[in-house]
Amino acid sequence: MIAFCFPHGGEEFEYDLRGLIGAFFPGEEIRKAEAGESFPAAEFVYEVPEPDRSLPYEDIKNSFKRRVYDELSEKTGRTLPWGTLTGIRPAKLIMKQLEEGKRPAEIAEHMRRVYYLDGPKLSLAIATAQKERQVLSKLHGTDGYSLYIGIPFCPSRCLYCSFTSYPVDRFGDRMEEYLDTLFYEMDACRPLFSDRPLDTVYIGGGTPTALSAGQLDRLLGKIVQAFPMADVKEFTVEAGRPDSITEEKLKTLKRYPVSRISINPQTMQQKTLDRIGRLHTVEEIVGAYRLARSLGFDNINMDLILGLPGEGAAEVEDTLRQLAPLKPDSLTVHALAVKRASRLKMEADGAVRPGPGQAETEAMMRAASEGAMQMGLFPYYLYRQKNMAGNLENVGYAAPGKEGIYNILIMEEKQSILALGAGNISKAVYPDGQIERADNVKDLKEYRDRIEEMIERKRKLWL
Ligand code: SF4
Repeated sequence: MIAFCFPHGGEEFEYDLRGLIGAFFPGEEIRKAEAGESFPAAEFVYEVPEPDRSLPYEDIKNSFKRRVYDELSEKTGRTLPWGTLTGIRPAKLIMKQLEEGKRPAEIAEHMRRVYYLDGPKLSLAIATAQKERQVLSKLHGTDGYSLYIGIPFCPSRCLYCSFTSYPVDRFGDRMEEYLDTLFYEMDACRPLFSDRPLDTVYIGGGTPTALSAGQLDRLLGKIVQAFPMADVKEFTVEAGRPDSITEEKLKTLKRYPVSRISINPQTMQQKTLDRIGRLHTVEEIVGAYRLARSLGFDNINMDLILGLPGEGAAEVEDTLRQLAPLKPDSLTVHALAVKRASRLKMEADGAVRPGPGQAETEAMMRAASEGAMQMGLFPYYLYRQKNMAGNLENVGYAAPGKEGIYNILIMEEKQSILALGAGNISKAVYPDGQIERADNVKDLKEYRDRIEEMIERKRKLWL
């Protein structure tokens, strides 16, 4: 356990401070010591330095974080790949500077000086922000909006899952009722955007293709009937798990303006797939992918997860080698973020081994990045999240013109997202940059019973 205390003030920066301490001491419990409290069990009690309040207000936090970084770096002998940055959207900081008209060299200098960000991560963040800016320029910004539809059902529950997901074998009989409630929510929320262009649609989950072909047909038919498609630049359906994909379902998607699908291996190592509770084979991944290609899908994303139990850089390299001949249009590479609930489950199932160290996670990220580049895919979106293995990042790589627009919108928060279905969070982005959110309950029964309340929350955002 690592404890910290504020003998000289600075409590207002506790959130950032926790992020930094956590990054220097990965996997350790971090506790704040109250005045007079002692922590005999603590390996280290960190006395937080005094913030320099003589600085202009906007510089106090950054200078404080640099000081903490210097002290912890000296104490541990470590440096952090992302410098003092603790937020999840490093590219957003850079995007802001690009919008202010700053040149990349100027931005790089600023990021080095203020955040200690340098080397490959700095290059990645700048390249990503430039690509994001280019892609977002095609949208209507805050004059337009995007639509997210959540289907919270999956063929089975993966061991590491932290999403809203109900296995079909136990909850399959709730799907029809769920769709009815969802359609009701669509009809009630559509008028909130009557005069605005819809830029992107994303059907995610869960696994949307856990629905039957008939149910998918109903869902897509309802979406195109309820929402205007004329301005839509991207319509994604996460086909997700290969064990949910059939020819009939893919043909159903093809009858609608679905422009991008995701078929997610996570790994091409069969032993890992078995271990994490995905009830499909490596061959099924390849089969589903080839089937989709043969039916004319020309924008297919594949998701990978780094840091799965028992995997290191060698397994990641092998996964990339197996994917290369398939030539996916984009790869989304996640570092496994084990949230508390799923970690407990993984421990109970004996699937957790000590997490990969920073060096190993970096080697995996490098293997993924090199593999993606060799496939002609370039970084276009980036986010970091808490609990992430090795304190690293998730990166989307895409062939030119095949970037996932909705993914960028989620990160850069440049447009309102109307999110419908259980467990999803709508986000209103106003022209002045203010952001407000409204969430839907996760539980299926509550979603049905409290749908009017969920709708009312969204009305408050946009009416
Ligand atoms: S496919 Fe995704 S949403 Fe479904 S159980 Fe697995 S991790 Fe969760």
